Amino acid sequence: MPPVTSKQPLRCLLYARVSRDLRGQMESPKQQLDSLREWVAREQGWTVVLEIVEEGSASAYARKARDRWPEVAVAIKAGRADALLLWEASRGTRELSGFTELKSLLLEHGVLLGYGGKLYDLADESDAFRTGLDYLLAESESAKTSARVRRAMAARAQEGRPHGKNLYGFRREYDPATGRLLAQVPDEVTGPIVLRLFEEVAAGHSMYRICQRLTEEGIATPRPSARGWFSTTVLQIVRNPAYIGKRVFRGEVIGDASWAPLVPQELWDRCQAVATAENRRRKPDARFSHFLSGIARCGVCGGPMYALCNRGRYWSYACHWKHCVTRSERLLDEYVRRAFVALLDEYRDELVAGRETAISSAVEAQRRQLDGLRQRLDDVAAAYAADQVKLATLLAVERDVRPMIEKAEGDLRALLVPGVLRGLGPDPAAAWQTLDDEDARRYLKAAVEVIVLPATRRGLRYIEPECVELRPTW
Ligand SMILES: [Zn+2]
Repeated sequence: MPPVTSKQPLRCLLYARVSRDLRGQMESPKQQLDSLREWVAREQGWTVVLEIVEEGSASAYARKARDRWPEVAVAIKAGRADALLLWEASRGTRELSGFTELKSLLLEHGVLLGYGGKLYDLADESDAFRTGLDYLLAESESAKTSARVRRAMAARAQEGRPHGKNLYGFRREYDPATGRLLAQVPDEVTGPIVLRLFEEVAAGHSMYRICQRLTEEGIATPRPSARGWFSTTVLQIVRNPAYIGKRVFRGEVIGDASWAPLVPQELWDRCQAVATAENRRRKPDARFSHFLSGIARCGVCGGPMYALCNRGRYWSYACHWKHCVTRSERLLDEYVRRAFVALLDEYRDELVAGRETAISSAVEAQRRQLDGLRQRLDDVAAAYAADQVKLATLLAVERDVRPMIEKAEGDLRALLVPGVLRGLGPDPAAAWQTLDDEDARRYLKAAVEVIVLPATRRGLRYIEPECVELRPTW
């Protein structure tokens, strides 16, 4: 068997599918395809005859999304290709019952196998051994991935190479052929934003203003967030030594990183003084670093709810008096934020108009109407209790009057919008969402009571609307 050279003309079949790499990052099929095309273009006499791309989900739960592999087999059996090029060994083979199946398919039709920038002829003993080995490694990869990731992370940290999620302000360059990480370089879009944050914090701009401007300008947050920028995000950025080219491992600087600093040392130093003071200011009590601590109240006994950590991992809010209610911190925070935004939207016009809270004649009239409606319902209930009217009558009256009472309550509230909420500007809901947690808590606490009931079932992954009430306190 003559050795495989890259000089012979080859009709190539490219196969790509979405997947996660060792770093847990998505490799899009398009990137894979681009690399494979570049490879073909580099070699003399190679042509692409067919490209098969799986656009399926990379989710481990959606394996059946990859269903175009049979087309690869059909094309090979039809003699359309001389070589099958994959992004890496595991790409196609995982879907087959085993490597032997792919091997016999390719052998039978004299098709070469290419991946990782190398071409293999399965009729060649050493090539067959090498590809078989790669397949075995790929096959056991899923079982070993987490151990490998941990080892690789520790090793990279020691070497000062980047790992984990890409750091905001940087982007990463990969070798198109092997997918290996080459360098971490400043990103053209987010890099200048990081610099701007450092400069503004160092110049003593308020966190609130910095966040407000970023959100107003529509600048994307490091992690997607509909709520825009928060001071915690800004503080995390300006306190991260990675921006002066230091490698941090488990919270400690362990040496110089392999990437160049994005921020000059002098700017960093000025910024730290400000950021440290800011950090101290906003952490007066660890108990209140949780959004709803001391704001949420137990719907069973009325006690305050505070955050506590279960089994050292899961934060939840629990009734402080009798532990009647425990709810996931993350879920409850999300739910209450959404509900509060909805409430601010509901009273938007009144908040913007800045109605007076002083008792006016309108408020008096509204109160009288509400009291009248409540009295009517009470009267019918009393009559029913005294056997003077039928249950059907009580229910009918309640059905008519209850919505009127709710409307009257809403109307009265609209007149009594608390002064504290008036400062939120023309779009209170949007403004509230740009506040940092400390300010957002202050508004929330001034405007509503948050009453929380126990979950209706065990193991719920959401908050049932009937279990949480945001009761306006005005
Ligand atoms: Zn309780």
